[in-house]
Amino acid sequence: MKKGENMPAEDLKLLIAGEWSEGTGDRVHELRSPVTGEHIANVPLASSADIDRAVTAAREAADELRFWSAFERAELCHRIADLVEEHIPEIARIQTLEQGKPYHAESLDDITEAAEYFRNAAEDVKRLSGEVIPTSDRGKRMFTFRRPVGVWAAITPWNFPVTIPMEYVGPGLASGNALIVKPPEFTSWALLKLAEAFTEAGVPPGAVSIIPGGPDIGDMLVTHDGIDAVGFTGSSATGRKIISRMGIKRSIMEMSGNGPLIVTGDAALEAAAQAAVYGAYYNAGQVCCATERVIVVADVHDEFVNHTIKAAEAVRLGDPFDEATNMGPLNNEATAQKMDGHLADARQRGAAILTGGERAAGFPTDLYYQFTVVDRVPEESLLSQEETFGPVVPILTAGDDEEAVAVANRSRLGLQAAVFTQSIQKAFWYADRIRSGTVVINDSTDFWETFQPFGGAAGTDTGWGRGRIEEFTDLQTVVFDIS
Ligand code: NAD
Repeated sequence: MKKGENMPAEDLKLLIAGEWSEGTGDRVHELRSPVTGEHIANVPLASSADIDRAVTAAREAADELRFWSAFERAELCHRIADLVEEHIPEIARIQTLEQGKPYHAESLDDITEAAEYFRNAAEDVKRLSGEVIPTSDRGKRMFTFRRPVGVWAAITPWNFPVTIPMEYVGPGLASGNALIVKPPEFTSWALLKLAEAFTEAGVPPGAVSIIPGGPDIGDMLVTHDGIDAVGFTGSSATGRKIISRMGIKRSIMEMSGNGPLIVTGDAALEAAAQAAVYGAYYNAGQVCCATERVIVVADVHDEFVNHTIKAAEAVRLGDPFDEATNMGPLNNEATAQKMDGHLADARQRGAAILTGGERAAGFPTDLYYQFTVVDRVPEESLLSQEETFGPVVPILTAGDDEEAVAVANRSRLGLQAAVFTQSIQKAFWYADRIRSGTVVINDSTDFWETFQPFGGAAGTDTGWGRGRIEEFTDLQTVVFDIS
């Protein structure tokens, strides 16, 4: 398949209970490419009967998988990774077409990363051990075991349509769970393509189902009695709804971020500016840990701004299939409108738009946005208060380090922060005070590794994220009387 031109819309099939089918629903989503505007695929939307079938099959598969040895499940994960790696260009091309991210600069790496989640999980599960716990009674022996939780619903977002589902499926499957993944209907094709690796690798029927859809299908899943646990990655607003609806279920909740990048008085300013720009254009800013706010200590403000304008020259907005492009269109109109709204609000509050500031003309869709740098952003503006999720560097100024931390911590979205300083003491001073799940010193807020614990700080609206493979298991204690 070449990129979008004259491509007939593909009729997609869902993976339900180990079978590829259209399901029994009576609705179809017309998937349109943000790159070309064309109707590229038809996504059948499942009925509640399909969901019941997927849950029943998942239970049966989980009951089987829990008795596989860790080494057998690890082998399965490596087989999946091998198959995914064989199809990287094909899956990446579909992902670019439906999501908009640059094929060469990002999409290929995403699919490589998706395979890595299976490799990591395969290695982790072999070392997932319990304990022997000393008892007060001489005649007792006490052991702990890590048991799979059972059946998971994984509700995932559109910004990383392939990797985020794999953050759940990799460790979930490796530790003996079954999963029903619900991606958004408008970014489900690449994931469905990747899922062919599951059937080919010998995943037990029903152990992984892929059921794309919107909030209604998500709600059916998270409220279903047959679901034991919910993995959610998405906005804090949706997370709040899911928590109020799902009842008593184990959960992993990965939600919005408003990552500050703090530039201190002794920072390497050119590197800080490059990191701020990268964190704003990578995936067109549609990343939970993007550069959402830059907080610059006043002494170095002017020099930092100069470096930022220079660094912004590296951004090449264009056709995401072009090798030179490092920023494609936004994925959807709601996100573009949020960018419009945040910039209008900033203008109205007196902020200075230094470059960009509007949608770019001359592209096949209206979703291509100019890379934007805004200075003198007031703290009360939408750009500062909310997650913008677009290609913008909003610059705020703080009088000193104390004020920079105070501004950073006034956000409710403490996911990942970055601090630029050349002082080790100052780096730890900030790390000890910033309320966020991760603090990166001297790199972009967009830095991550596939095995990195990732999630919010308590007391923020970012949720509780992934730590280790243990989170896909229950701790079971077994006590023996040997007296
Ligand atoms: P979203 O909350 O709109 O949707 C996420 C998923 O939830 C989708 O599959 C959607 O269909 C589903 N959903 C929506 N309403 C639902 C409901 N009532 N019940 C059940 N499911 C429902 O988020 P989005 O716009 O797809 O993604 C962007 C957001 O995700 C941003 O806020 C971003 O920061 C966040 N995100 C967080 C992380 C992280 O690791 N913390 C990673 C990526 C994205």
